[in-house]
Amino acid sequence: MKQPWQTGQSKNNKVSQNNKINTRILPILPLPEQVMFPNMIRPYLIVREKSVEIIKYAIANNQELLLLTIKQNVSDPKPENLYEIGTLGRIMQSVDPQDGSIKVFISGISRVRVIKFLEDDQFLKALVEILPDEIGDVVDIQALINRLVATLRQYLSSNKGFPPESYEEFESVFNQKDPSKLTDVVVKHLSLFLDYQTQQQLLELFNVKERLTKLIEIVRAQIHIQNIEKEIEGDLQNQVSKQQEEFYLNERLKAIQRRLGRDPQAMGDEDELKEKILKAKMSKDAEEKALREWERLKQMPGMSAEASVIRNYIEWLISMPWAIATDNKIDIEEAEKILHEDHYGLERPKDRILEYLAVLKLVDKLKGPILCFMGPPGVGKTSLAKSIARATGRNFVRMSLGGVRDEAEIRGHRRTYIGSMPGRIIQGIRRAKSRNPLFLLDEIDKMGMDYRGDPAAALLEVLDPEQNHAFNDHYLDMDFDLSEVLFVTTGNYLQAVPMPLRDRMEVIELPGYIEYEKEKIAELFLVPKQIKANGLNSGLITFTNTAVRTIIREYTRESGVRNLEREIASICRKAAKKFVKEQLTEKGKKVNISSRNVKDYLGIPRFSHNKAEEKDQIGVATGLAYTETGGDILAIEATTMEGNGKLELTGKLGDIMQESAKAALSYIRSKTNDLSLIDISKDFYSKHDIHIHVPEGAVPKDGPSAGITMATAMVSALTQKPVRSDIAMTGEITLRGRVLPIGGLKEKVLAALRANISNIIIPRENEKDLSEIPTEIKNKLSFHFVDNMDEVLALAIRQISTDTNKPSANDVKQ
Ligand code: ADP
Repeated sequence: MKQPWQTGQSKNNKVSQNNKINTRILPILPLPEQVMFPNMIRPYLIVREKSVEIIKYAIANNQELLLLTIKQNVSDPKPENLYEIGTLGRIMQSVDPQDGSIKVFISGISRVRVIKFLEDDQFLKALVEILPDEIGDVVDIQALINRLVATLRQYLSSNKGFPPESYEEFESVFNQKDPSKLTDVVVKHLSLFLDYQTQQQLLELFNVKERLTKLIEIVRAQIHIQNIEKEIEGDLQNQVSKQQEEFYLNERLKAIQRRLGRDPQAMGDEDELKEKILKAKMSKDAEEKALREWERLKQMPGMSAEASVIRNYIEWLISMPWAIATDNKIDIEEAEKILHEDHYGLERPKDRILEYLAVLKLVDKLKGPILCFMGPPGVGKTSLAKSIARATGRNFVRMSLGGVRDEAEIRGHRRTYIGSMPGRIIQGIRRAKSRNPLFLLDEIDKMGMDYRGDPAAALLEVLDPEQNHAFNDHYLDMDFDLSEVLFVTTGNYLQAVPMPLRDRMEVIELPGYIEYEKEKIAELFLVPKQIKANGLNSGLITFTNTAVRTIIREYTRESGVRNLEREIASICRKAAKKFVKEQLTEKGKKVNISSRNVKDYLGIPRFSHNKAEEKDQIGVATGLAYTETGGDILAIEATTMEGNGKLELTGKLGDIMQESAKAALSYIRSKTNDLSLIDISKDFYSKHDIHIHVPEGAVPKDGPSAGITMATAMVSALTQKPVRSDIAMTGEITLRGRVLPIGGLKEKVLAALRANISNIIIPRENEKDLSEIPTEIKNKLSFHFVDNMDEVLALAIRQISTDTNKPSANDVKQ
């Protein structure tokens, strides 16, 4: 059977499509890194100006052009840069987008060889001869075609990366019966994998047989490459699965060995754990539970997450001090000695503590109320608790309740939670390393409450002697006896402590120190402590009393001594540095800290206390305020102006203070004309406004105790009579002019003394509180006790009482 490409011209079974020499002159379109083949249609977007001209020229002249590949990439190729075999192309279609470029579809017609390059001014042309393909032996060709198709199928079937449409295209190629066309179309489809040099080689093969052979070779090479890649990938995969297999086998092996008791390491660990359980002297329940968990642990692969959870749990059980207790002795005399040794002053708290300890000793069981120290920071609450621990031979452990909002923080999380832990109480007991420590619960007033439960309720259970012998932590899931723990709590404000908790506690208040006490504490405790802590000794550094006073007055503003201690520590550190740097020790020098050089160590003073008014003034009265950091004086100003009876209050006063101002005003209005003291006309209010202002931002302005001071300032402004500047006052006022008692007397008294005020007006009901104030302080001041506002005015406003400078019947010189 004749093949379609066979023509009658063939001699000796050989065919040639066209054997007459065919030459023509064609403009050359150079192709960078690309080869155009006959039997191929390609779109080209031509942008190079010269190439665009060529295209236009070709369009104008029978659409033909020569496509030659550039040998090396050059921008303006010369004949020597071009291959000499190329393709005669015909422009099928062209689109001119009018932007200087041109888009054409070129169809490859046949292979051509350049006979001569022709250069004119315009562009390159060549005289070419069109060469026919040499087909060769038909049988050979068919055999080669079959092989090529088979090889290609093999290639395609194993190449998963080919898009499905390529298969279809190839199938149509396989149907191609013209061998010469077939080779070119295959090349087109393989062009993705073939570099342009190889493509050029294929173009230059005029002999179809050779072309087929070369193509088979190329496809086989591709298959080979593919196989190698697969092998490499396979190797990698094998490696990974081998590792997995090893791991699995190892785990199995371990499990089997463990079962047989042959794994010395794992068995050693587990035996050790069991031994620890048995030695921990747990409660019966706890031990049973621990052993049960241990059995479970044994069944598990050692590295599993669950095993580590169980191990952790068992370790918690082991580490609890089930049977460890310190020898609790209560020797009241010894305790008294220790409390005095560690603390200056605090007589009342110390007495209360000793009474408490005496009761404990008598009942011999801790069923009494919980001790609670209430007071500002740094007044020695923690340090008293530590002394109690020392005095009673208990371990000391501390935990802050500040910010605890979640019941689980007290009681722990159930073990079902990932990363669950016992609550803070159990953690604390573990830290204490005994089941009868002194457990200090700090900041009991700062506990919160939200949807996660009420920590106060959980705490109540901890503190309740009726319940705490079997405290059940969610994590331990086991009762722990807390009945021998001595709980002590601390806080700043009693009011913030939930009522049920307050009921369980014996509250001991520590109100804060006066300057004198601070000086003593510094001298006896803080200075020696810090000198030692910073590697110095009293032979190297001394603090004068005035230095300490300066630190207290100008660098701290607090009720306690925490900042004072910090400042002293800071001086000691700086002095230590000075010693080392200037080698003072070798020179036999010492550092003396006095009020003059405190600045050199601590910098510019941070605080100044308000000073008293220098002279009597109209509309200005001096009040005494209690602040969190102690006391201060407060100048309250009042003035009147034309208006219609409004009361204006400025200085960021709190609600209670504002109400108190209104009460004072109402009192004054009710007294107008009624009282000879306040001599102002009744209709005064309809024509005037009153403005009260409380300056000085640092003092918090709330509370009722400024009532009498505001009333005094107003009366002074209304009557235009001055207020004595050497008197300070504090007291709440009622509408009827009664003066009610106030809090924070000690701090207020000290503030007055600091401001050089010698006369203080206080409510009579506060007289009893003067016993808190050391005698040496009381001796420096005159106290005037009052029951009602009339007495206040008589004392404070000049010219109201005829004889104010003389102490009245109420005055007591303490
Ligand atoms: P709190 O617990 O009340 O905040 P701390 O007990 O921590 O205060 O006291 C702060 C520092 O002041 C501690 O170094 C403490 O020893 C010391 N301190 C407080 N009060 C006294 C005191 N009366 N005598 C001796 N040192 C005191």
